[in-house]
Amino acid sequence: MRYVHTHLHKELPDREDIADLRLLRFDLLAVITHDKGLPEEIHIVHLLPFGKDKQFELLSSKFHTLKFNFKEFIRNLEEEMDRIRAIDTSDNRERAILISVSTAPKYILEEHMEELEELAKSSDLVVLDRVIQRVKEINPKYLLGEGKLKELIIKAMDIGATILVFDQDLTPSQIRAIGEMTELKVIDRSQLILDIFAKRAHSRDGKVQVELAQLCYMLPRLTGKGTAMSRLAGGIGGRGPGEMKLEIDRRRIKERIHHLENELSKLNLARQQRKKRRKEISIPVVSIIGYTNAGKSTLLNALTKSEVFVEDKMFATLDTSSRRLKFPEERELIITDTVGFIRDLPEDLVSAFKTTLEELEDASLLIHLVDISNPQFENHMESVKNILKELNLHRKPMIVVFNKIDKLSYQEVEKICNRYDAIGISALDKKTLIPLIEEIKNRLWEEKVIYNVEL
Ligand code: GDP
Ligand code: MG
Repeated sequence: MRYVHTHLHKELPDREDIADLRLLRFDLLAVITHDKGLPEEIHIVHLLPFGKDKQFELLSSKFHTLKFNFKEFIRNLEEEMDRIRAIDTSDNRERAILISVSTAPKYILEEHMEELEELAKSSDLVVLDRVIQRVKEINPKYLLGEGKLKELIIKAMDIGATILVFDQDLTPSQIRAIGEMTELKVIDRSQLILDIFAKRAHSRDGKVQVELAQLCYMLPRLTGKGTAMSRLAGGIGGRGPGEMKLEIDRRRIKERIHHLENELSKLNLARQQRKKRRKEISIPVVSIIGYTNAGKSTLLNALTKSEVFVEDKMFATLDTSSRRLKFPEERELIITDTVGFIRDLPEDLVSAFKTTLEELEDASLLIHLVDISNPQFENHMESVKNILKELNLHRKPMIVVFNKIDKLSYQEVEKICNRYDAIGISALDKKTLIPLIEEIKNRLWEEKVIYNVEL
């Protein structure tokens, strides 16, 4: 691609040229000066690999004496850039910069950043850097100031990032505005969560819901963005080539949404029937709920010795997985593991995952599992409670259980358990589960009489 423009005066590449060079990732820019229409001097400017004192290099020469092997020069330069970025090119995961822009106090932004990083890792992103930007006022167009955003984009390209992940949800117009400034992928926290859901959805039901939520989220955010080339070209004459495709994409997505909604209502029916059958056999259901990464799947696994997906990633479970447990005295219960709760779960996602959470309506007892070793555990408990309230499930009988007690001292565990009237366990250590199992039995069978009378 060649990008030609003229300067009115004889001059070296100026600041805007350099900004273009960096933002558009040109190989190089050359200014050719002329003397009465004949070329006189040439000034070549190119980027330097990341981490050097200077960001660019200027070579000047008489136009006619210039000897310059462009291809070889650029190839060498690119090789050096790759070497310095130390990027494993065989690793085709996306490389992300995480960004948080907010007026909130710094410590809150840092907490949220921790969480965003966990989410990013769950989604198989390689996190190259985290940028926290405290601002007095949110820039409505770009979220952060235009200058800052440009700096950020340049940095992202310097270190070889492929995607920018914003902790704040971006409006369709912000996605578009930022997208117009860079070729990097730009997503927000909701999209990240949707992506995790998409990767973890196993059942037909789960898959349909996730795709539906993704499409609904995407629809207003389609930008019809082409390549850098088409954008430059599009700038000259009206509508870019992206516009037409955009309309087609929109129509296709709407059709797909319609199709999925139909499928979902059929699946709903099947689920109702399953539910009814389970009610008929009247086995009590105990659901393990809690923040992502609390150890829910590990606990279910430990309780049933069944093979449930256990991984040190958030959202390792999407679909509710149920296991049937039998006690020696012929008592049975169904225990279910649920998708992790998350702070500030975006509205769109709450409704998209209602079915997953709907199952909780059947539960006779909730086990609210909390990772006691997470410094944020109190916030986590709060957000779980809030979501339960939203789903009108907060009056269900519940046991608060602190997990990962192996990570804290005995005294600390005791103090916290007393404060919350809770049971402490380590899902990795089966013998710590005995008090919990006793409590479950008590709640389901011993207290039942009292419970019924009260009703
Ligand atoms: P979920 O998202 O709530 O289902 O959490 P997982 O069951 O996938 O567990 C998340 C991580 O915590 C995994 O790496 C588990 O091995 C780890 N984990 C679970 N229970 C314990 C525990 O009692 N102690 C410790 N140290 N780690 C645990
Ligand atoms: Mg899990």
